[in-house]
Amino acid sequence: MVGLKTHSINLYKELRDDADYPVSYNHGDGGIRLANTAAQMDGYRHFASMAKGMGVEFEILDAAECARRHPLISTDNLLGGLWDDNDGDIDPASLCQALARRARKAGAEIYRNTPVTALTQHKDDSWTVHTAHGDIDCEIVVNACGYRVNEVGAMMGVHHPVTSMEHQYFVTEDIPAIANAGHRMPLLRCPISDYYCRQEKNGLLVGFYEQDCRTWGMDGIDPHFVNALCPDDLDRVTDVLEGAFERMPALTEVGIKTIVNGPITYTIDGAPLVGPIPNKRNAFCIIGLRAGLGEGGGHGWLLAQQIVHGEACYDTWCIDPRRFAGHTNVELTALKAIEDYQNEFRFHFPNEHRPAGRMAKTTPLTPILAAEGAEFTVVNGWERAEFFKPTPDFHVTHGFHFDESFPVVAEEVAAVQNSVGLCEVNGFNRIEITGSDAASFLDRMICGRLPRKAGRVGLAYLLNHHGMLKAEATLANIPASDRGPERIWYGSAAASEFHDMDWLRAHLHADEDVQITSLTNDMTILVVAGPKARDVMQLVSRADWSAAAFPWLSVRECFIGFAPATVMAVSFSGELAYEIHIPNASLYAAYLALLDAGKAHGIRLFGAHAVEAMRLEKGYLHWKAEILTEFDPFETGLERFVQMEKENFIGKESLAERVKAGPSRRLVTLLLDHGSAPAHGGASVIHGGEVVGTVTSGGYGHRINRNIAYAFVKPELAAEGTALRIDVLGHLAPATVTAPALYDPELDRVRG
Ligand SMILES: Cc1cc2nc3c(=O)[nH]c(=O)nc-3n(C[C@H](O)[C@H](O)[C@H](O)COP(=O)(O)OP(=O)(O)OC[C@H]3O[C@@H](n4cnc5c(N)ncnc54)[C@H](O)[C@@H]3O)c2cc1C
Repeated sequence: MVGLKTHSINLYKELRDDADYPVSYNHGDGGIRLANTAAQMDGYRHFASMAKGMGVEFEILDAAECARRHPLISTDNLLGGLWDDNDGDIDPASLCQALARRARKAGAEIYRNTPVTALTQHKDDSWTVHTAHGDIDCEIVVNACGYRVNEVGAMMGVHHPVTSMEHQYFVTEDIPAIANAGHRMPLLRCPISDYYCRQEKNGLLVGFYEQDCRTWGMDGIDPHFVNALCPDDLDRVTDVLEGAFERMPALTEVGIKTIVNGPITYTIDGAPLVGPIPNKRNAFCIIGLRAGLGEGGGHGWLLAQQIVHGEACYDTWCIDPRRFAGHTNVELTALKAIEDYQNEFRFHFPNEHRPAGRMAKTTPLTPILAAEGAEFTVVNGWERAEFFKPTPDFHVTHGFHFDESFPVVAEEVAAVQNSVGLCEVNGFNRIEITGSDAASFLDRMICGRLPRKAGRVGLAYLLNHHGMLKAEATLANIPASDRGPERIWYGSAAASEFHDMDWLRAHLHADEDVQITSLTNDMTILVVAGPKARDVMQLVSRADWSAAAFPWLSVRECFIGFAPATVMAVSFSGELAYEIHIPNASLYAAYLALLDAGKAHGIRLFGAHAVEAMRLEKGYLHWKAEILTEFDPFETGLERFVQMEKENFIGKESLAERVKAGPSRRLVTLLLDHGSAPAHGGASVIHGGEVVGTVTSGGYGHRINRNIAYAFVKPELAAEGTALRIDVLGHLAPATVTAPALYDPELDRVRG
């Protein structure tokens, strides 16, 4: 987001300096985000560390410095703030005209007052756009229709998770202190009282995010609502207005000149949807923009790159429309939009999942695990246990430091390390691929080897056409049985449900005998992990579970008690483990059987936080943390999964070119010398006073008792033993490059 905002700013500066059509742009007034809690200040320190990596300097201010830079604010109940030198404001009308003017110059045709009335997609995936003034044939369509996004979405049979919220601001009469200040006032964003303001002539423009907020246009939008506003209703913002008055007493002494109330679009997670429309071909969107002016230049740039090159220069997953799967209907979107509006300036803390729209996707075990004390995290709508509370009133204080769950997670890890644990992994993406061409199709998609032998499992990576990492899949070659024909299961991260399906389907040839079916929502995984895992399996299932009969990286169909299951001998924890895939109808039965069989060994439930801690000790990677479209498999340390001698695979030529050119970055594991906080994703890695890399993941390894971080760093600094520093919440903590696998590197425990 810092990168795309920087692009917007540079573009707007260029438009401002255009002698033929200058845009009114007050760049560099500066902006402050206020804070009144230590945890918020930690967040700002982390943002400053991240921004540094993108070449942008944010400053951390104390309360007195905030007031010095913005003389109208009081320091009551204020700890400090985050200063952004580049903040400013731009005239939206002249910006729009300037962009249109540049587009026309580049050959674009713009038809004003020409509503799109329908969209038709043809067999070759091209489109006809029907308008009130005639049809336009085109290869690619982009839905950029603001608050009418779902009217146009409906024309192609798509619902976008976007809802409009009414938003109000007012503009004051002149304020003498502003007129006499001798400099422009910086912008102000206040999470304490949920308002923002900026200078408008010699007064202020003040906008509010009230708790008693309103969705807009949920039951359809008047076709005549064009360049229009909603009726103003200042009574609604009284709660936040009072806070604004206290922070800025000058507001109580000045009249209001204008009130503006208009619709702004919100999404499920506050970020916009910029990229390919899920399950469609040749269709893109740039929607759900709530800061469409500030960020629009960057979003447009990233979308253009995706359309032209198939991918942008940054990994754009955080704005990818495919990050939400099918559960995001109108009601859920509205609930999350309201919650997000009410918390506009309050960022999410690490592991914070807010209460609106919860329990969207559950399994039969969710209430059972809740009764066992599960604290849930949300993954693509799925409620997944992150750890089990030791007492019903156990509470975690969200922040950037290790929290109260630290010893709880340590105990769960110890149970898995010393005996056996049971964990539900729901939402895991499971795609069944069958047909006589299934193997050759997948062989083309992945850069490594398929598990050719029936009953074998392998990890595989899919590259894009630039040779960069697109997806990661566990491929299981399942022999024909009374449950179905010979088939390959493609398993991947829960968040990738729409993304991976799109990528696979897009590359299927019309003449190939391949069927692709999603089983994601029909089955759930139970993981049994730990040195006693084999004993548990032997007790609960009739097959021979010895290492000789069912070695690491095997798959078989069986029963857990009387529950049908497909079991894979794979491990993300680094302990002996079995991944048991069970139809949801039999999930509870399998769970009871496993718990019963594990009783003798003190089987313990464990959650996603324990898994995260253990995978960091093993050098295992996460999709969209370490596996990014910004890096190739060699840079990511995945060379053992690449077979350059294979005749062909997607991205092979580009990858060969990249290998010749040498790596731009390398993924390394670091041991971090910091006692109270992990390194958070995005933090900058420093060497000799320079930013030399970026953290992707960090956390505590309870089995080795060390603070671990993964980071992409300059290749010349990737050697084991290199001493670096990580900017952890403003503190430059020493960090040493180490071997990727810190626990059981020979895999003795996994093989059991
Ligand atoms: C009160 C208020 C204050 C705001 N303050 C800020 C701010 O300070 N900073 C900031 O960055 N953003 C702010 N915003 C948000 C900003 O205005 C939006 O993010 C931005 O306008 C979104 O741009 P867009 O191009 O996606 O959508 P829009 O600007 O809504 O443009 C969509 C276009 O699509 C056209 N269209 C729709 N349907 C059809 C159809 N069927 N056929 C043809 N054309 C169609 C519309 O006519 C319109 O021209 C504010 C918004 C409001 C209401």
